Amino acid sequence: MDTTHMTLAELQRLLQARELSAKDLLSEHLMRIDNVDHDVKAFLRLTPDLAKEQAATADRALKAGEAGPLAGIPLAVKDVLCVKGVETTAGSQILRGFKAPYTGTAVGRLFEAGAVMVGVTNCDEFAMGSSTENSSYFPTHNPWALDRVPGGSSGGSASAVAAGEAVVSLGTDTGGSIRQPAALCGVVGMKPTYGRVSRYGLIAFASSLDQIGPFTRSVEDCAIVLEAMAGRDPLDATSSDRPNDVRRDFDAGVKGMKLGVPREYYDVDGIEPGVKAAIDKALDVLRGAGAEIVDVTLPHTDYGLAAYYILAPAECSSNLARFDGVKYGMSDQEATNITDAYMNSRRHGFGTEVRRRVMLGTYALSSGYYDAYYLKAQKVRTLIKRDFDTAFEKCDAIVSATSPTVAFPIGSKTKDPLAMYLCDVLTLGGNLAGLPGISVPCGLSEGLPVGLQVLAPQWREDVALRVARAYEVASGVKVEVAPL
Ligand code: GLN
Repeated sequence: MDTTHMTLAELQRLLQARELSAKDLLSEHLMRIDNVDHDVKAFLRLTPDLAKEQAATADRALKAGEAGPLAGIPLAVKDVLCVKGVETTAGSQILRGFKAPYTGTAVGRLFEAGAVMVGVTNCDEFAMGSSTENSSYFPTHNPWALDRVPGGSSGGSASAVAAGEAVVSLGTDTGGSIRQPAALCGVVGMKPTYGRVSRYGLIAFASSLDQIGPFTRSVEDCAIVLEAMAGRDPLDATSSDRPNDVRRDFDAGVKGMKLGVPREYYDVDGIEPGVKAAIDKALDVLRGAGAEIVDVTLPHTDYGLAAYYILAPAECSSNLARFDGVKYGMSDQEATNITDAYMNSRRHGFGTEVRRRVMLGTYALSSGYYDAYYLKAQKVRTLIKRDFDTAFEKCDAIVSATSPTVAFPIGSKTKDPLAMYLCDVLTLGGNLAGLPGISVPCGLSEGLPVGLQVLAPQWREDVALRVARAYEVASGVKVEVAPL
């Protein structure tokens, strides 16, 4: 029995039947990490002491019959989520050495549900990127092809699950950073509705877009993790008290459902033929399962990327103003005056992409340019939201590729920021409109994983999960752990 290849649901049964202990499950995962992570490089740091303590607690709860849904389950956490006493750096030098003084809500709820944290995963610096190459530490490798990127920005979290190093992991998605790496690594990844999961304890990138979500090996696992961390939190005013009913109708199938295919997504510029072929096949599977596939249109898609790359940098320029080298993290000690101290700390602490975004954002918000850029982008955002509202009058959910391409070679886009930004053309609309979206594996192109994205109306995670689950069952496509 190789526990590093199993799903949360399978392991839950074994743990609860006392056929497996949390302690043994943890040792197998630590061993797997030891064996493969020098190639994959999913982890920035491991937390074996915390994990051992949590596994012991889980074993006691399991024995007493009081175990939570994640009792004993190895979890990896993206380096933007604060965990008390654990170094949390957002993939940046500016926070090197910073130990979080508290644990954020989403992670805390998974801890309460019994999860065992094995380590902190690599990501693009401050979650800005689509390949994990903007990490200031090292790039992470795709477990399916080590010379390729895992996607990003949550590339470490996606590859840890794909490589059998953790059963589940957490990422964040501002423009696609959960769904795109899930697609490129062949695992399930979900961005919940904006407001479904509390972001207390998340190092903010673009606060009107950021959401925390899971990476898993099945749609059922995704629902279990989401359910455990969702819901109102007084510490995040944007979190909602709507019913946590994400598993409603989970197994109801897609018979009679209308699934919309936006022509702007289906024929998006740069979509690879192999990706398109995999999506066509997935649409056939959904049709075969009883869904009606309908054409829909999202006419403002072309402007989405431009609007996102004004709004996200604008918000980041303000969010990142707090990293001044005074309160925490890297601090220039040589400067003789306060201005130089700020400038040197930020110049040396932030990497190229982060500095580019802060400058773009500051420019877009500055007097004289605000109306032309920021305000205009906000208006475009409203139009995009309305496109989705209109489309959802004709369908229950929207299906498309998650990423126009499969995993690309490491280094192939690092010199061309625009090419990198295009990775998110199919995902960022979901963030601008605040929708829930999931990516599920739907086969291979050139031997590399392709993801099917399902977007649902706001607060209808149940619909996204139901469609994804129906696809998973009807297609028989199972998440596999990469043979490393
Ligand atoms: N790749 C996008 C960006 O760089 C999305 C990042 C994210 O979702 N965190 O902004």
